[in-house]
Amino acid sequence: MAWENGSSGNGFEVPDVEIKFTKLFINGEFVDAVSGKTFETRDPRTGDVTARIAEGRKADIDLAVKAAREAFDNGPWPRMSGYERGRILHRFADLVERHVEELAVLDTIDAGKLFLMGKIMDIPGGVHLLRYYAGAADKIHGATLKMSQQMQGYTLKEPVGVVGHIVPWNYPTTMFFFKVSPALAAGCTMVVKPAEQTPLSALFYAHLAKEAGIPDGVLNVVPGFGPTAGAALASHMDVDKVSFTGSTEVGRLVMKAAADSNLKPVSLELGGKCPVIVFDDADVDMAVNLVNMAVYANKGEICAAGTRIYVQEGIYDAFVKKAVEAAKKSVVGDPFYPHVNQGPQVDKDQYEKVLKYIDIGKREGATLVAGGKPCGDKGYYIEPTIFTDVKDDMSIAQDEIFGPVMALMKFKTVEEAIQKANNTRYGLAAGIVTKNIDIANTVSRSIRAGTIWMNCYFAFDPDTPFGGYKNSGFGKDMGMDGLEKYLQTKTVVTPIYNSPWF
Ligand code: NAD
Repeated sequence: MAWENGSSGNGFEVPDVEIKFTKLFINGEFVDAVSGKTFETRDPRTGDVTARIAEGRKADIDLAVKAAREAFDNGPWPRMSGYERGRILHRFADLVERHVEELAVLDTIDAGKLFLMGKIMDIPGGVHLLRYYAGAADKIHGATLKMSQQMQGYTLKEPVGVVGHIVPWNYPTTMFFFKVSPALAAGCTMVVKPAEQTPLSALFYAHLAKEAGIPDGVLNVVPGFGPTAGAALASHMDVDKVSFTGSTEVGRLVMKAAADSNLKPVSLELGGKCPVIVFDDADVDMAVNLVNMAVYANKGEICAAGTRIYVQEGIYDAFVKKAVEAAKKSVVGDPFYPHVNQGPQVDKDQYEKVLKYIDIGKREGATLVAGGKPCGDKGYYIEPTIFTDVKDDMSIAQDEIFGPVMALMKFKTVEEAIQKANNTRYGLAAGIVTKNIDIANTVSRSIRAGTIWMNCYFAFDPDTPFGGYKNSGFGKDMGMDGLEKYLQTKTVVTPIYNSPWF
């Protein structure tokens, strides 16, 4: 593994960005928290404080929900035509496009993400989501029902109401637009609770939404902590739906809070421990590249990361050798530098959690063949790590580590691969690498997971519904399924001429 801290003098200037928005965004205004309290957001490259952010709690969530309720019950947003909402969403997208660099900087100093990936993927991906759902906003319609007994009916697709969005820190921009774009297109109003580690870009988006013409009260952003702000949103009697992305443990709490309050529907996009199965006929170099991306992209902080790697026995040794070589060549360091492959983990807690799992892996008897150590003299950097001799029941094969740790395992037959891949409480995604179409078809249908990538990985698109099976949750983001969850169906029935009702 190579280390880059900028001392190589490659001439790259870290962009300087002023942090403009640090207050809560409620009813179209940036305001202090009712309590006057603030919290720190830190730069994972150094651990230093970047900004102090107004800390939303129950009283602030109450105000934000009140604004969203008023905007839903009496405001123009749910009542305007889908075409008009779509035009405003396109304007919002235009504004995001104008600030790509600035927004990418915010996500890098908040989450430690690669700046270049933010610039070419995360922020443009948010724009793509906005435009996808802007195009859908005027195509929301129900069905005509041909009933028996001289009755006729139709269904109306109506916005579900006030939505509470609770999101994690690993993709601050993507998670924001996964939630907000379809809910806005549907005509909902909303309160977004960004993760406490990464509030900066969400507040910037709130400002751009106002500039685009989204009416006050429609989109509120309240940063704060989970047990206070998040819990208040999940249990609020005036919130009609909660759309949550985060860990399985917190997803359970959110569902319970929803059940114990007003029985609001929830959608839960939760954790994962995804398998990638590499068959003997695969090109080893291609498979190693694909697996490297599956494990190490975004320093392993991806719910859909493919970290349980099953390699068929015929190519196992060659695969291990090349995977170790690739891990050793990886450049870890400051995520602003264009040639860096891996930045720091998001914060101290996450960094310590990953190192703890590396320790557990060693104690459980797996063999550490690459990485395994922290690096750099400040910040939260960890070497790309590979374990071999991993057994299915080890913690490093079962628990979501959310860091750059690969667990390598060997298998003999297709049946064994399917059995091993399904031996998990999660079911978010899976990867298959083979040129054999029969194997690809059999395995893709046998794995219980919400997304299967064949000879590719992380092939996301606004048109591809994404969400889990099993403990990875339920409800989809993206695609038309991602719009459907912000709509509810009303059936309207009327007698027709000559019916017994006359
Ligand atoms: P987390 O569950 O700790 O936090 C997620 C959000 O929930 C944060 O905003 C947090 O403040 C809030 N929260 C915490 N306690 C709460 C409570 N009691 N009530 C309401 N809200 C509460 O998750 P994280 O550490 O931020 O993110 C990592 C997790 O997210 C991983 O498990 C990852 O797999 C998952 N994730 C899933 C997807 C997906 O699409 N399936 C995408 C990204 C991340």
